[in-house]
Amino acid sequence: MSQASNQANDNSGRTILVVEDNEINREILQSLLELEGYSVYQAENGLVGLELMEKHRDELSLIVLDIFMPVCDGHEFLRRKALDERYDTIPVIVATASEGEDAEIECLKLGANDFVTKPYKHDVMINRINNTIKFRESASIVNLLTWDDTTGLYSKSFFFQNVAQTFDANPDKEYSIVCSDIDNFKSLNERYGQEHCDKILTDLAKHLETLLPGYVLGGRIGGDVFAFLIEHQPKGWEKVLYRSTEIVTNLNLSVKFGIVEYVRRNIEVSTICDRALVAIERIKGPLGIDISWYDDALHEQQVLEQQILHNMETALAERQFVVQFQPKHNMRTDKTGGAEALVRWIHPEIGFISPGAFITIFERNGFITKLDMYVWEEACRQIKRNEELGLPLVPISVNASRLDFDMPDLAQQLAAIADEHNVDHSLLHVELTETAYSEDPDNVISKLRELRELGFLVELDDFGSGYSSLASLNTLPLDVMKLDMSLVRQAEKLNDFRIVESSIKLAQIMGLKIVIEGVETLEVAERLRDLGCDYIQGYYYSRPLKSFEFEEYLAEN
Ligand code: C2E
Ligand code: CA
Ligand code: CA
Repeated sequence: MSQASNQANDNSGRTILVVEDNEINREILQSLLELEGYSVYQAENGLVGLELMEKHRDELSLIVLDIFMPVCDGHEFLRRKALDERYDTIPVIVATASEGEDAEIECLKLGANDFVTKPYKHDVMINRINNTIKFRESASIVNLLTWDDTTGLYSKSFFFQNVAQTFDANPDKEYSIVCSDIDNFKSLNERYGQEHCDKILTDLAKHLETLLPGYVLGGRIGGDVFAFLIEHQPKGWEKVLYRSTEIVTNLNLSVKFGIVEYVRRNIEVSTICDRALVAIERIKGPLGIDISWYDDALHEQQVLEQQILHNMETALAERQFVVQFQPKHNMRTDKTGGAEALVRWIHPEIGFISPGAFITIFERNGFITKLDMYVWEEACRQIKRNEELGLPLVPISVNASRLDFDMPDLAQQLAAIADEHNVDHSLLHVELTETAYSEDPDNVISKLRELRELGFLVELDDFGSGYSSLASLNTLPLDVMKLDMSLVRQAEKLNDFRIVESSIKLAQIMGLKIVIEGVETLEVAERLRDLGCDYIQGYYYSRPLKSFEFEEYLAEN
């Protein structure tokens, strides 16, 4: 008998809310949880989830929350939950599609208690749920006390409160906040068990308390996240943190520190700690000890991110997103053979925002699917305009991101937009990047098949930038391969085009057309033509063009 089912009968009277847009997942979870003796409520999106949470507030032992959902996604759900103290006692386990420190810290900052990765592994899921509920039920007693049992540090709310009091009592002193986060603590917990890991937390907390200069007080503000208030120290003080190396290697840990110096008093203590966590999030370093500061640049980046999140819906409604078109030059006919649609955001106050600044944010909160549909529609409009103006009819390709493929009717939706604008499907290409298919290749493959059956063409973007590209050529239904810019850059630098040449041969063997991106000089263009490249997209021929410029370009070429 598994550990999970041992506890089955203990759970009657406990209720769990499952917030998840995928009906099959919801049903599976419900039956799994009922088997364990839990009662279950289901919500198909964040909004319904919020309503049910309010209605059944006093009954709920836990919430299982999906992150990517339409209407109100998991991040938004956590944000709204955090606004109301009455929900503080209900723990949340977040289901993420991928295991990533960034995603985890993001959710942790928003108040999540634990994570599971999809697809759900039943035993892991049940154990996490049982543990979180047990922990919360005993912690709710501990929380009433001031101290965290395990580490001897202040509990979260008391830490915040005491820091605020310290500020009030010492108006002339300067302070810093230091947060620590252990890498992959969750997997340590699974590997070594809770008792061992509790010991790690205790040792680390004790160690840091004595190590930090100007130490005032410390708190445990998350599972493996500590926060410390210290008096402001002269430059270079942080070197002492590297003295944790010994304990860290003894315990086989990797610890990251985020520091906020010259703490401003008019900011909530919890916000200051969040900023230290944002700094930690930025660390992408190797194992061991790593330190990062919350500085002005990071603050500006965060402000921009907030602005992007706040303004995106309005921007879409007000058509602030502008699509540009970058020609692809046909090397055989020496004429324009197509174009790629690239989105830009012209914000009324901020001005030009490049896709690099917002695409990843939209991929995190799910907004990218709406934007991609918009770009698709703009591409259709442009094709129609070209036709009306009597310009050469060249295909336009549109970038697709991973989340687009979560839409069950992606192909049908794209077809509907094309048909509405009366655009021949063969004039529309979908550009797919590696991150779009690496997670759930089977799903992507079947969607690509549907797209091709409907007459659209598929281009594999950024070929050669990752690791699994070679295998993907065999399995993905493709028409075109786009070589990643980095390969051309490298070839230019080393004056060695052998890899580019063999990529061209590879495409030919696989029966694919090849587009080479990022070509900036005549010399490279000629060389690639000699090597048999079909299309070139790059600044040498043209930068991405505004709609009217693209029309002029087509007229000339
Ligand atoms: P990508 O799909 O690899 O697009 C090519 C990028 O390379 C574009 O940057 C383009 O302007 C740039 N580029 C083209 N030729 C040259 C060249 O000769 N030299 C140099 N240095 N750069 C060149 P951009 O427009 O900033 O787009 C960046 C990325 O943002 C795109 O990379 C794509 O992944 C994403 N993106 C842009 N528009 C969309 C969209 O509508 N939807 C989605 N999902 N992603 C988009
Ligand atoms: Ca692309
Ligand atoms: Ca590309």
